[in-house]
Amino acid sequence: MPSSKRSELVLLGTGGGPRIWAKRSQPASALIVDGSVYVIDAGDGVTGQLAKSGIDTGAIKAIFITHNHSDHVADYGTLLLRTWQSGHSGPINCFGPSPLKNMTTSYINYMNWDINLRIKHEDRPDFKSMLNINEIGESSSVYEDSNIKVDCLKVPHGEAEPAYAYRFQIDEKVIVFSGDTSKSEDLIDFSLHADILVHEVLNLDGVDAIIEKTYPGNESFRAHIIQGHTTMSEVGEVATKAKVKTLVLNHFVPTGSPVLDKKEIWQNGVRETFKGPIIVGTDLQKIPL
Ligand SMILES: [Zn+2]
Ligand SMILES: [Zn+2]
Repeated sequence: MPSSKRSELVLLGTGGGPRIWAKRSQPASALIVDGSVYVIDAGDGVTGQLAKSGIDTGAIKAIFITHNHSDHVADYGTLLLRTWQSGHSGPINCFGPSPLKNMTTSYINYMNWDINLRIKHEDRPDFKSMLNINEIGESSSVYEDSNIKVDCLKVPHGEAEPAYAYRFQIDEKVIVFSGDTSKSEDLIDFSLHADILVHEVLNLDGVDAIIEKTYPGNESFRAHIIQGHTTMSEVGEVATKAKVKTLVLNHFVPTGSPVLDKKEIWQNGVRETFKGPIIVGTDLQKIPL
C-alpha cells in the first residue's frame, strides 16, 4: 500500500570510496516526505546533486550520517553552510556518531572568516544557532517528527568504528540504509520485511584493480576493503533472509572501472542469492515510496 504522504527516495550519489572519479558522486541520499527533506550521508558533491535533483534545500529538516569515513562526510560542512547561505533559517537536526560535534565546530572555525563577514555585512541570521547536532549511539531511537520515525543499528565496518545503519518508518513503509558494513546478521533482523533495503555492495573482482591504481602491493589496504564491505552474493543473502520487498544497490565498490561498473554485472552478482526486485542505483535516481 502506498504511503498516504507523498514520499520519494532520491539517490544523490552512489559511488563508494575516497578516490576521485567521474562516473558517480560520493554517497548521499534523500528522503522526501510531504515536502520535507531528510538527507542520509553527505559525500563530496552532495549540494550539487541536491540542486540537480530539484530538491529544495530550504526544506531540509534533518541529516543522518552513517559513519565518518570521508566519502560519507566530505561535504557535510559544505551542505550545512550552503544551505544556510541559500536562505535556510533553521533548525537543521544533524545525527551521526562521535566526533560529529567536534567536526561541526571545526568546520565552522574553518569557514569562520566567511561566516562572520556574511552575518555582519549581509545581515544574515546566526549560522551556528540553526544547527542542532546530536551524536548517536546511546539509544536505537534517533529521531521522530510528524513524517518519520528513525532508528539506528551499529554495523560492522572493519576498524571504522562505530558505523551505523538507519531504519526510516514513514506511515507503514520501512526503508533501511545499510551504511557501510560487512555482512551483518543484526542488519538482517533490523531490515526484516522492509519495503526497501538500500545496501552497499562490493565486487571482489574490482579490489585488485583499486589496489593497483592507488597503492600497488598494499596488502593491509586490500584486507581493509574486503573486511569492511559486503560482496554481491552476500548482499543477496541479506536481502533474502530479511525478506525485503525491494533491494536497492548503492555505494558501489569499485566505482569508475570501465569493465566492472556495468549494471548487468551488479545485477547478476546479486541475482544468484536474491530473487526479488533489484534496483542497481544510479546518481539522481528517484524511487517512489
Ligand atoms: Zn564508504
Ligand atoms: Zn566506510
